[in-house]
Amino acid sequence: MNPPPTPDPTPTPHPHHEPDAPRDLVGIGIGPANLSLAALAHPLGDLDTAFYDQRPAFGWHTGLLIEGATIQVPFLADLVTLADPTSPWTFLNYLRSRERLFPFYFAERSHIQRAEYDAYCRWVSESLPGLHFGHQVDAVRWDPERDLFEVDFTQLDTDGEAEALGRTYTRNVVLGIGTEPHIPDPLKPLVEAPGVPVLHAADYLDHRAALLAAEHVTVVGIGQSGAEIFLDLLRNRPAGREKLHWLGRTEAFAPMEYSKLGLEHFTPDHTRYFHALPETARDRLIAGQWQLHKGIDAATIAAIHDELYRRTLHGGWPDAVLTPGVRVRTAGRVATTKVELHLEHARQDSRSRLTTDAVVLATGYRERPLDRLLAGLDPYMRRDSQDRPRVDEEYRLVLDPSVTGTAYVQNAETHTHGVGAPDLGLVAWRGAIILNSLTGREAYTLPRRTAFTTFGLTQRRQVPPPREAPALTPLVDDRR
Ligand SMILES: Cc1cc2nc3c(=O)[nH]c(=O)nc-3n(C[C@H](O)[C@H](O)[C@H](O)COP(=O)(O)OP(=O)(O)OC[C@H]3O[C@@H](n4cnc5c(N)ncnc54)[C@H](O)[C@@H]3O)c2cc1C
Repeated sequence: MNPPPTPDPTPTPHPHHEPDAPRDLVGIGIGPANLSLAALAHPLGDLDTAFYDQRPAFGWHTGLLIEGATIQVPFLADLVTLADPTSPWTFLNYLRSRERLFPFYFAERSHIQRAEYDAYCRWVSESLPGLHFGHQVDAVRWDPERDLFEVDFTQLDTDGEAEALGRTYTRNVVLGIGTEPHIPDPLKPLVEAPGVPVLHAADYLDHRAALLAAEHVTVVGIGQSGAEIFLDLLRNRPAGREKLHWLGRTEAFAPMEYSKLGLEHFTPDHTRYFHALPETARDRLIAGQWQLHKGIDAATIAAIHDELYRRTLHGGWPDAVLTPGVRVRTAGRVATTKVELHLEHARQDSRSRLTTDAVVLATGYRERPLDRLLAGLDPYMRRDSQDRPRVDEEYRLVLDPSVTGTAYVQNAETHTHGVGAPDLGLVAWRGAIILNSLTGREAYTLPRRTAFTTFGLTQRRQVPPPREAPALTPLVDDRR
């Protein structure tokens, strides 16, 4: 028997869009942030939207979909639920469409596997209209004559080669271009040279077989990705001959903050408090909050300890070295098949060298710079004292008042909105704020209070009121 078909919620926006007619909103990037926005915009019906992504299809950190690894937020932090649990694009409705609701109910799992989150998002991306994969956006400009943004893109073929150039026009844009892997400068030459496998954690699964076969493997970085990769290698290398090093700069294998009140830093209430602080206070605060997002989740730490312990049951210790507080100063190749890492322990003021056959750099991610895409908006952009774009409470880039369109950002605003900017738990809420702002009405009713903690002594208004409605494309397309 076939499973029930994917829901086809009406209306389908603007099937008769003419190529040069301006859209209401163009989204750049289709990661969870813009996919959520697209899913929340869809039932509104009166918005003419299009979203572009350079990849051939949706994929969520595909190199790290390690079997058994889970997301760090409960499944209710799906693309829509925290703004609209009645949406057809909920995770529960995905399970329903796959006839998996009963098994999920008995599994009693709040934190679903990474691979399942990816599959759910793909289901949404394959069902929603108006998403254009294989489109790399090259530039966004403001046309003051037409009062429109021009968005230039390159259409890519299935091999990622340029196939055609195109341009679309829009009254508003939303950038959801996410993050890119970060490799510290001293290690960059290693990755560029061929021979020994030296790779960023983002590419782990593509190289997993080579890493399992390597004589000795070093994982650099003791955050969540480093922990998941170390665990996977540990579980799959022979007992007594693990030959693994796991090193990182942080001074401990620090657990990620996951207490109930600690999690309230990922609420709209904390976001509003943070946004209202002066720039210098925000910068100081965010530096002190690293354990809210950069540690390792307690379940992964427990699983690593369990696996290490299991390997001592028959006598002996696993051949694995776990050392925090270590920085890789420089690195070089030895002959053609090995790498030498020059290590430093700051507290001990000691140095040593480590020869290894493969290196995984779990050295994190950085926000993709907006400036590459937005060079054409530079004259209009307002910046803070460190030259970062200013972003207002409704996720709008602060632009010169002569620009009548709006450029929204998603997950590029940690410096203005705090630790919650990349968090999946705030994706639906932020999407709803953007849609309320864009439509000038309360398209989504949002809660006025979201935390038991009262952040700060003085309170600000709780939900930004809708601003004056911008000119939107009418519901009935009269351009035919
Ligand atoms: C490995 C990893 C695991 C994580 N796990 C969690 C978790 O468990 N829980 C949690 O709350 N957060 C997690 N995060 C935080 C992260 O912010 C979210 O997972 C999420 O991916 C952010 O979504 P996004 O849409 O902002 O960006 P992304 O997912 O990075 O998507 C951005 C998209 O933009 C596209 N793009 C970029 N430039 C262009 C261009 N010029 N033209 C067209 N397309 C473009 C990219 O191809 C990409 O598809 C994790 C992050 C990482 C790196």
